[in-house]
Amino acid sequence: MNSQVPPHTLDSINFDELGFDGVRFDNRFLRELPADQETGNFRRQVEGACYSKVLPTPVSNPQLIAYSKEVAELIGLDMTKCDQEKFAQVFSGNQLIEGMDPYSMCYGGHQFGNWAGQLGDGRAINLGEVINEKNEHWCLQLKGAGPTPYSRSADGLAVLRSSVREFLCSEAMYHLGIPTTRALSLVLTGEEVLRDMFYDGNAKHEPGAIVCRVSRSFTRFGSFQIFAARNDEENLKKMVDYTINTDFSHLGKPSVDVYVNWLEEVCRTTAEMVLHWMRVGFVHGVMNTDNMSILGETIDYGPYGWLEGYDHHWTPNTTDASGRRYSFGNQPKIALWNLAQFANALMPLVKETKPLEKALESYSRTFEKGWQKMLSQKLGLDQFQPETDDDLTGELLEVLHLTETDMTLFYRTLAEIKTDLESAIDLSDEEILKPFMHVYYQPEKITPDDHTKISGWIRKYINRIATDKKPDEIRREQMNLVNPKYVLRNYLAQQAIDKAEAGDFSMITELLDVLRNPCDEQPGKEKFAEKRPEWARNKAGCSMLSCSS
Ligand code: AMP
Ligand code: MG
Repeated sequence: MNSQVPPHTLDSINFDELGFDGVRFDNRFLRELPADQETGNFRRQVEGACYSKVLPTPVSNPQLIAYSKEVAELIGLDMTKCDQEKFAQVFSGNQLIEGMDPYSMCYGGHQFGNWAGQLGDGRAINLGEVINEKNEHWCLQLKGAGPTPYSRSADGLAVLRSSVREFLCSEAMYHLGIPTTRALSLVLTGEEVLRDMFYDGNAKHEPGAIVCRVSRSFTRFGSFQIFAARNDEENLKKMVDYTINTDFSHLGKPSVDVYVNWLEEVCRTTAEMVLHWMRVGFVHGVMNTDNMSILGETIDYGPYGWLEGYDHHWTPNTTDASGRRYSFGNQPKIALWNLAQFANALMPLVKETKPLEKALESYSRTFEKGWQKMLSQKLGLDQFQPETDDDLTGELLEVLHLTETDMTLFYRTLAEIKTDLESAIDLSDEEILKPFMHVYYQPEKITPDDHTKISGWIRKYINRIATDKKPDEIRREQMNLVNPKYVLRNYLAQQAIDKAEAGDFSMITELLDVLRNPCDEQPGKEKFAEKRPEWARNKAGCSMLSCSS
């Protein structure tokens, strides 16, 4: 009576057959947290449980199209010994490895500022937790492996275009030094998935794909909010204590004080994550509380984008075009709003608002200090000196907004200029601006006034650098460590997708390779560092993305 779709069974194969020498699973989340008593795979409200057991839906023709060798290594998988066909069977959900025990997690969330109730892993299925040689737990999760009890009105699947984007961006972020969930593999399923990309009645079939994501934990702010919203204090406490005992054990045994310290730590790590986003020009696009990792990792790569022209109001997400809640410049503020919702979820356990409010303050403290440090590093300054640098950085952000300025190219170009004071003083405004002309999308639109302001700022910068007495080569080296040359520009991801949809997967691997060393010069790869070509200005996928994925 209770299960409408009988659970299918999957064959298990042995670890060793995949080159997983001596690696084992230890599914703590399953073992220690309450399970949904219902085991049928049908959509429902799941109460009093942190997860539901569910099997991936078998697919017809899995094909491995890309993998990350670093993530394979992290989980103890030797890809040189790996049978790629078997690998594709496992990481498309067709076969389980001994010790895997698939489940989807229950969580809720605030979407665009409103409480949305139960969401949960609607198309994500955890396979289990691997313990690697260093005794670290890594959760493996398939995204797009079929419906789960949390799928609501959707199909549980993912298309190739969004999977390529998730796969590449997860790894690109990692190589940029940004906390993120990882991506082990990208597999085509052989199935077709119907999507109406712009919700305009033009649905079409697209190739289905599955990414295997990897993280120490996929727990989100919403994983706690769901229990608080349901007044389920018992399970809220179980989820909180479990999370502290596993991923925050350095804070000590769970107690009211530890809950508050934990919130403070989550505030700090979240601030650090957003600072990194601001450093490289990343816009997440959907910072709902269900998309905020408790580990302060970037999670759920949907309609994200990278700044081309520097613009605080820019968002790649067409669904958010009117409100711009999740625009580039709003991200720091939204992260704090999300943390406040998370703090609210801890109220039933902490019982007092004061300590929670105090812990929340650590967000702004970390952010403000980090912001100054980040900007001074981007500019190659030894230290942020408020007397001069508040103005210098404030004016910089104004100058970057004057005319469409490619953020990534701007900082790399700034690192190259000569700041030898005597020669700089003799230069005219034209000469000062000349090396920068390629960073502007519409140089013909630079007004004489813009021209004066931009060159005025560069002069100010040169004067400021002189006070540090830092040789230009050293400054350049330092700046180039924090200002990437290669980022996953929106149009590059789209070109890789267009090729992949036509059956050529080479650009995915090529981009992954370039993005492994985003700050290096990489002679011969300069075409991947070029600013967005004009054809991509208003092209779907390059500048406009929807949540349809
Ligand atoms: P997102 O905005 O992608 O974070 O998704 C919000 C919620 O919708 C999450 O619970 C997702 O698991 C769920 N969801 C998104 N896309 C699908 C899909 N194609 N099938 C089932 N659930 C989905
Ligand atoms: Mg999500």
